[in-house]
Amino acid sequence: MSVVDIGSLSVSFKRGLSHFIALQVEQIQIAPGECFGLIGGSGSGKSTLLRVLAGLHRDWQGAVQLFGQSLTAQRAFSGTLRRDVQMVFQDPYASLHPLHRIRRSLREPRQINGLPFDEASLVASLEQVGLPGEVLERFPHQLSGGQRQRIAIVRALQLQPKLLLLDEPTSALDMTVQAEILNLLQRLRRDTGMTMILVSHDINTVAHLCDRALLIKRGCIEQRLDRAELSARAEGG
Ligand code: ADP
Ligand code: MG
Repeated sequence: MSVVDIGSLSVSFKRGLSHFIALQVEQIQIAPGECFGLIGGSGSGKSTLLRVLAGLHRDWQGAVQLFGQSLTAQRAFSGTLRRDVQMVFQDPYASLHPLHRIRRSLREPRQINGLPFDEASLVASLEQVGLPGEVLERFPHQLSGGQRQRIAIVRALQLQPKLLLLDEPTSALDMTVQAEILNLLQRLRRDTGMTMILVSHDINTVAHLCDRALLIKRGCIEQRLDRAELSARAEGG
């Protein structure tokens, strides 16, 4: 069974008095354990696609299944879907409350879901991404951009999701930190077997991590790239 099975999906937004179609795609199937890339320029619809899959954008039309379960437009995720799909945003400030200590932000997902949490496993999950336990005491602004993104990743992992959606997780970071985060994601994938969708405007980033990718242009699938094509395009570009 596919983790993601999009028969068709379209999203439109109001623009002035009319609507414009921000996304119109079909036939996207992603298998368990796959790392799937979405490549495209700014405004091509990448985030919109992820937001539908995360249940954050509900005004869509089409046929979309996650883990064999059909999604219903206009309806919030419920039950295990809410835990099984987690998203990491380009700007980690978006997922970390600026006035909350890191401990609180990391406890919250399990707390909200009525799951037990303990300090020792929090410290262990920080160590897994190369951060010392003492960051729990800090506020987001007391961390570097790369550390904040690690925290955002740790936060997304607290519910042990089966599908991790990564929306340009490295594009706000400088080059060396980008490589560190990509290596971290690579390691996570190897260790957990989690399915991932990685969005990036940079084909090299996607080629580094993904098995397959879609090139999206103005909301439509421009090209489907397999592993070999990804490598070729990355080297050439
Ligand atoms: P990308 O992530 O590839 O940069 P987005 O998915 O964010 O692109 O946006 C795709 C298009 O949809 C853009 O033209 C954007 O302006 C538009 N769009 C996205 N979200 C909204 C919204 N909530 N309201 C109106 N237009 C939107
Ligand atoms: Mg985007």
